Amino acid sequence: MKKVLEKHLPYNTGWAGEMKQGQLLRIAATTTVDFVCFRLQNLKERFDQARTKVYNGKIFITTGDKLMGRNNQHMMTIVENTNREGTHDLQKGMCSGYRFQLAKKEGRLREYYHRDYKEEEVPDHGCYENLARALEPYGIAPEDIPSPFNLNQHMIIDGKTGKMEHTTVRAKPGSYVEFRAEMDLLVALSACPDMPVGGKPVDLSIYEP
Ligand SMILES: [Zn+2]
Repeated sequence: MKKVLEKHLPYNTGWAGEMKQGQLLRIAATTTVDFVCFRLQNLKERFDQARTKVYNGKIFITTGDKLMGRNNQHMMTIVENTNREGTHDLQKGMCSGYRFQLAKKEGRLREYYHRDYKEEEVPDHGCYENLARALEPYGIAPEDIPSPFNLNQHMIIDGKTGKMEHTTVRAKPGSYVEFRAEMDLLVALSACPDMPVGGKPVDLSIYEP
């Protein structure tokens, strides 16, 4: 395999780039990564959480499963998932500066993020702003960014009540998820500030098979 791109994403930043059909994207991280993709030739066709869950018949996807688009097309296939600690999330949206302020205003930081925070510990931005900034050069408005595939965000979901519980279970160092592009794509990701555990940088690489 030939590596065509390698990128180190610092804590709480985003990145967007293009991929050709058949290329592989490897995302190595120990904390949450918010990931989205768009068909390069029609950026209105984008990743869709609901279609992905219905197509795969489950809410936790892994090796062999597909990321589906708005028009029910195969956008990507997960070819390898080495996170053995927990699962990846398809329920949640993106964290954002406003979201953190709202939780603070309502006195619910502990409820959402598992501990108390000092004023200066609450980030002034999150994945929403990171992805918005990364996708701006492609003319994608923040409101048009789909709810993401949240890598390494392990949730406990009660099958009867549907109650979702944030956890601090995350991937071990060296873990990665590798995707194959099933069409030419614009892909974007954010190294989430991941409040419950404290975000970390993310490494990504794109390979020619
Ligand atoms: Zn986030």
